[in-house]
Amino acid sequence: MTEQTPIIAIDGPAGSGKSSVSKEIARRRGYGYLDTGAGYRALSWHVLHRGADTADTDAVLTALTSFDLRLGLEPDDRTVTVGGVDVTRDIRTPEVTAAISGFTRVPEVRAYLNAIFRRLAGESGLGGVVIEGRDITSVVAPDAPVRILMTASPEVRAQRRGLEWGADAAEVKEAILRRDESDSHVLELAEADPGVDVIDTSELDFEQSIDAVLTVIDRELGGRDGR
Ligand code: C5P
Repeated sequence: MTEQTPIIAIDGPAGSGKSSVSKEIARRRGYGYLDTGAGYRALSWHVLHRGADTADTDAVLTALTSFDLRLGLEPDDRTVTVGGVDVTRDIRTPEVTAAISGFTRVPEVRAYLNAIFRRLAGESGLGGVVIEGRDITSVVAPDAPVRILMTASPEVRAQRRGLEWGADAAEVKEAILRRDESDSHVLELAEADPGVDVIDTSELDFEQSIDAVLTVIDRELGGRDGR
């Protein structure tokens, strides 16, 4: 990543508000927006589409050699394609989501995806790129000038997801806790690396969450992003 492309690294668990906040920050500041979860989802789709099992490491590594991922940096264009096929909707199905955990612990797979993410951010040519995920502050961009961990209590996260999905709160909370558990290898929810700003959004509404993130960005970047 070049000095010309300041990275705003934002990690957080499902339902922490990181995606909607990251997107809105990118819109307001004219930054790129990189949803690394979409990369993991697209790989899961690709492996399943080939009829393989995502828990079969050899099959996943083979699938990577034909993994032609296109992921835009435009916050209002969520289009994701794999080998020219538009998978934007398909990567959000429960089947694809559940299958991701088959390979998230494989170091070669993570390294491969991280290289894609770093290349995309470095090539952006924009004044900044917001990269959101689970291990951005710790692994993908540990030297980013802005590193934020967004958290929220499981209850609040379940409530937000429940509103999105129109589902039963207790069921959603169960699902959220299951995902925390399966993501615990990449994101230590209770801890942030030294130098990472923790923003707890449990008591914050959307606008207050944006303000909290912008305060950190302005403190760290000042006029560096050319605004
Ligand atoms: O962010 P999203 O919920 O779309 O991510 C889907 C899954 O991809 C996560 O639950 C996690 O298992 C995995 N992931 C990851 N590292 C990232 C982003 C996502 O392991 N940086």
